[in-house]
Amino acid sequence: MTARPSRPSRHPRDPRDPRLEVWKFGGASLADPPAIEKAARLIAAHDGPLVIVASALGGVTDLLLAGAAAATTGKSAEAGRIAAQFLRRHRDVARALIPAGPARRRLMAAIDAAAREYRELCIAIGVLGHIAPRASDLLVSRGERMSASILAATVGRARRKVEYADALDFIATDAHYGGAAPHLSHTFRQTRQRLRPILAAGATPVVPGFIGRAPDGSLTTLGRGGTDLTATLVARALGARRVVCWKDVPGILTADPRLVVDARLIPQMHHREAAEVAHYGAKVLHPRALIPIAGTRITLHVRSFINTDQPGTEVSARRSLHEYPVKALAIVKNQAIVTVAGKGMVGVHGIAARTFVAVDAERLSVSTIFQASSESSIGFTLPEAEADRAVASLKKAFRDELASALIDNITARRGMAVVAVVGDGMVGAPGIAARVFTALADGGINVVAIAQGSSERNISFAVTAEQATEAVRRVHDVFQLSKIGGGRAPAAPRTDVVLLGFGRVGRALADQIASANGHAMVRVVGLLDRSGYIFEPRGISRRRLTDLASRKDAGALLADLGGRAVPSADALAFMAGHAVSRPVLVDVTSEETSDLLRAALGNGFSVVLANKKPLAGNWNSYEQLLAASANGNCELKYEATVGAGLPIIDTYHKLAETGDRVRRVEGCVSGTLMYVVSAVSAGKPFSQAVREAVDKGYAEPDPRDDLSGRDAARKALILARLLGYRGAAPTPDDLVPRRLKNLPLDGFMARLPEVDAEWRTRVEQEAAKGRVLRYVVSATPRGVSARLAAVPTTSPIGALQGTRNLIAFTTRRYSNEPLVVSGPGAGAQVTAAGILNDIYSLAQSARRRVLAAEADR
Ligand code: ADP
Ligand code: ASP
Ligand code: MG
Repeated sequence: MTARPSRPSRHPRDPRDPRLEVWKFGGASLADPPAIEKAARLIAAHDGPLVIVASALGGVTDLLLAGAAAATTGKSAEAGRIAAQFLRRHRDVARALIPAGPARRRLMAAIDAAAREYRELCIAIGVLGHIAPRASDLLVSRGERMSASILAATVGRARRKVEYADALDFIATDAHYGGAAPHLSHTFRQTRQRLRPILAAGATPVVPGFIGRAPDGSLTTLGRGGTDLTATLVARALGARRVVCWKDVPGILTADPRLVVDARLIPQMHHREAAEVAHYGAKVLHPRALIPIAGTRITLHVRSFINTDQPGTEVSARRSLHEYPVKALAIVKNQAIVTVAGKGMVGVHGIAARTFVAVDAERLSVSTIFQASSESSIGFTLPEAEADRAVASLKKAFRDELASALIDNITARRGMAVVAVVGDGMVGAPGIAARVFTALADGGINVVAIAQGSSERNISFAVTAEQATEAVRRVHDVFQLSKIGGGRAPAAPRTDVVLLGFGRVGRALADQIASANGHAMVRVVGLLDRSGYIFEPRGISRRRLTDLASRKDAGALLADLGGRAVPSADALAFMAGHAVSRPVLVDVTSEETSDLLRAALGNGFSVVLANKKPLAGNWNSYEQLLAASANGNCELKYEATVGAGLPIIDTYHKLAETGDRVRRVEGCVSGTLMYVVSAVSAGKPFSQAVREAVDKGYAEPDPRDDLSGRDAARKALILARLLGYRGAAPTPDDLVPRRLKNLPLDGFMARLPEVDAEWRTRVEQEAAKGRVLRYVVSATPRGVSARLAAVPTTSPIGALQGTRNLIAFTTRRYSNEPLVVSGPGAGAQVTAAGILNDIYSLAQSARRRVLAAEADR
């Protein structure tokens, strides 16, 4: 899609423009004024001919049906309230979107009329006491007609020429109200006749979805979700290049995301596969939506209305992802299994055929047919609500056989669900069914009936409704569909790392991960910087990482190195939707990244921080971050924020977990300050110590960031918060002389010797008292500080040298002599080691969860 708005053309267009696309907007994409505005903007910005097909505003079809149901049960007041709600909702939306004037007046008049008719129809239904499907269709048709009118008016304002075209004029159906089947050739001809002139005039037709007209002229609907079908019918009729269905999901997922939390986006599927998924009730597409375009070159794209620059799922005649025999699972609930059984059936000709003739005569929609291998029974599933009719019709048809006991019984078992396992690659891949049923058996799930589609592109099975969700999860797991695509033998769960920031620490980490050679199944799949991202679902090779690192050193940004330039939050959402397994976002920036981290946690990432800022900001933002990590299976770890690779946070947790109470944590946590202050205490000039710290890579490029004490203060605050402190951040002792604060770096370094004498005096004074200077942080549940202090030369802190860190825990158990953790506390390698430790511990806890789940089975 390009961003260039297309101006209404003055010249007639070729109505058979090969660029034609049909865009369908679902209810969620038309939920409120901002959403409709967004849809209108997308449409206006598209370069090329379009037909728009609109669903009712989100929730409106349900509302209208509820009003009708209220009317039939005599609750006319309730029906009246619903009519008023319908009126108000549409009036509010129209008022918000269309400025006062003739266009708005026309729209308001149409809305008023629709609501009035609706109310009157409800009254009539109340009198009759029942609602015929025919009347119901007439009632709910208002939803689509109003939303299409509103959308057309909104797009019209966005300077794209539009024309409302009522679907009744060209979608021809049978008279099966509530779920009419389109009459294809009539529909195609009429659609061309009605829409081509509009396109030829350079305008965009806006069509209400879901509705059509029966041969007698009455209004019909195509069944719930029918707007998808309207869109594919129009696309086929006009020979469009593609259909885009904008939805509130990222695309077609491996399973219903409401049932399977780690359902993943399927990037590409064959028409046939999508048709199976839709047929088996995945709500994402109308069950018959693929019929008009299957076998054509028309592609269908299910795309995210929320992240409109993401590609979503492409459904086309292409075959991809060959290595994944199973791509998706679908589930139909509220099913009944109807069984025709009898020993006498064996070998009797035509029972099956007659069974389905009888069902068909009632126009019942059978979803799956099961036949036991013994041939002594034949069964099928259909919606529970239709079971009685099916049984009655069958009993009539087999009256004689029942009388002569050729057939023993015809029964319906309610409360069932059918699960379909779908994938083109199942053809010829041995053992798929065995894996499905082993997974189910392991879960103690009782499979009531099994059917393998003759195409071998699906296996479906019926289970009780209570076991259905668990069944779907088990099968999803066994094919590892959470990694898009399953089909491979189950391997140990991988942990996919995305690096936010790719500086010194990021590189050291990437290198450590690579040199662990896939140990613990950790790998780097993505890099993010402020310019964009690079994503490689199978892992970025060590070579590529090294290459990227050296080019980044030379100043390039990821967007220049083959990365995609999109905002970080979108990049994360994209990665989350694509094939990442137990993803971990590692923040090695030194920016304020809280919002992004929360978004990552919301997208299913665990987060590992070396960056201190998100934990050392104001209390609210800290608390929100913790809250975000407390949801679901995502975790937040930040060992490397204090003491680099030293186990400081870890030690705290171990103490707390074993029932000890930590009263005070104090020590030296800044490698740079430690180095500088200890060198000065040992007699080195201050300026020389600072220069050495910079040269050795301990300090930040501008050493004032360390000398100011800000970094140490952040660490102190992180520790204090761990102990339950909720107060303000400490004001650290600042070692940068005030007069040198605002100088450029060069000037600062050049003038630093000016303070050497002051330092020498102070060091000598303390030495006389048997003390040395140290930069010490201290944290308790009630207070926190970061100070330059004089400590006894013989104390553990006084004896520290170099860049070593030392943290002492004073606890209930360690009250006389604190528990001390000490070691190297600065440098890219040790920091990366601290991060890697967190990543491994996440991988381990994920594995423990998997094992625990297996043990539960
Ligand atoms: P529209 O707004 O276009 O009518 P729907 O609400 O009908 O969209 O379809 C999207 C819904 O389908 C999602 O809310 C999702 O919960 C559900 N769904 C069920 N199965 C799937 C699947 N396999 N992939 C994506 N969404 C699914
Ligand atoms: N509005 C109708 C429904 O809710 C049709 C559709 O959205 O596709 O089912
Ligand atoms: Mg739908």
